Amino acid sequence: MQRSLTWKDIWQMAPLRISFLIRSVYDLLPSNANWGKKDDPTCPLCHSRQTTERVLSSCKVALPQRRYTWRHNRVLQELASVISTE
Ligand SMILES: [Zn+2]
Repeated sequence: MQRSLTWKDIWQMAPLRISFLIRSVYDLLPSNANWGKKDDPTCPLCHSRQTTERVLSSCKVALPQRRYTWRHNRVLQELASVISTE
């Protein structure tokens, strides 16, 4: 997959966004496979190893159930609520 980020883009990001980016690329975000608190590293939906990639976009059960779309829309609703309040 080709990336379009430049060093200039990265240096202009907020620190928390850079942190999320780096942790997502290196699979360091909390998941059942790397959280260290769970004995079972599998995804509760598809029973494959639950990696960051699978959590964010490639679970074969969550995708057809439109769970990613639902999550996306919930984030947009929250942003719209904050913007309308401000
Ligand atoms: Zn899954």
